[in-house]
Amino acid sequence: MRPLIATIKLDNLRHNYELARAAHGDKTLAVLKANAYGHGAVRCAQALADIADGFAVACLEEAQQLRAAGIAKPILLLEGVFEAEELQLVDELDLWMAVASERQLAMVETAQPSKPFNIWLMMDSGMHREGFLPQDYQAAWRRLEASGKAGKITKMTHFARADEPDVPMTFSQLEMFDAATRGLPAGDESVANSAGILCHPRAQRNWGRVGIALYGVTPLSAGFEQDKALRPVMRFSSKVFGVRELGIGEPIGYGDNFITHRPTRVGLVACGYADGYPRLASSGSPALIDGKRSQLIGRVSMDMLTVDLTDLPEAGMGSEVELWGEAVSVNEVAANAGTIGYEPLCNVKRAHFVYV
Ligand SMILES: *Cc1c(COP(=O)(O)O)cnc(C)c1O
Repeated sequence: MRPLIATIKLDNLRHNYELARAAHGDKTLAVLKANAYGHGAVRCAQALADIADGFAVACLEEAQQLRAAGIAKPILLLEGVFEAEELQLVDELDLWMAVASERQLAMVETAQPSKPFNIWLMMDSGMHREGFLPQDYQAAWRRLEASGKAGKITKMTHFARADEPDVPMTFSQLEMFDAATRGLPAGDESVANSAGILCHPRAQRNWGRVGIALYGVTPLSAGFEQDKALRPVMRFSSKVFGVRELGIGEPIGYGDNFITHRPTRVGLVACGYADGYPRLASSGSPALIDGKRSQLIGRVSMDMLTVDLTDLPEAGMGSEVELWGEAVSVNEVAANAGTIGYEPLCNVKRAHFVYV
């Protein structure tokens, strides 16, 4: 068996959910889109089923997978539906859905559900991706109400920069949201993602939506303390399956990305970009080898990567390599690749998944 393993710690998942829910101070949806950020949506949903207020996914296919696995909790479609035909399944599977565009609103108006939909009406308070503009929001709300197709309507928006707590945009988005919903009948509101939950007390509304923090990974840039109690859920690990001693001036791997500048012991590790390890995180990316920190040298290939064993004389064939997890944060690896922790997590594949 190839030794690449994604160990998923379900206790940590539960811990992080409870932490986020307590920080938010009210109901919180566990966001399981993109196969639970690469962790396995069904297993994560099952592990949270007795404590979560509900789940959120990106699309109908993801919700179907959870319902087929017996998950009975509320499930919100964060992007709503793409085609009117999906509405029948939304009705049958008893899903909640975002309505974020004129097109989706018109689909709801003409639908024939067996019971009114539970709708999360999205406002574009500044992110400019989807949602009704503040000046159009009340009219959309009233159209939904008048259609008779909406039961509960939750007012919703999404932050563009909540992960930068010092940046005022989140406050202006909140002000925009509050001003544009003023005068509408009272009802549930939902504005906070992980960063909103961790850093913005004014974003505590009826429903939080926790994604990345659920997996124990901070959405915040370095230097903020709000997230110290999060526990990483995934440990991505493999083993050294080859060792090579090189002199000075020798290249390693594809291209001329890395040339040895000292006598170097190179460890070959069973993990590559086809497993989700970012190819751009080449030389310098951290790795924990038998509990000691070292780093990648040379380019990441499709099925393997190379690490520096020169300063770890005990390490060699069969040494255990943590690619990310508790000691090496996925954010650190991601930063080396010019991306964020979300992306490598979502990309993990071909590994053996072990749930503990
Ligand atoms: C993905 C998503 C979230 C979760 O975001 P995190 O930063 O991972 O917490 C919340 N709300 C919406 C609308 C989303 O699409």
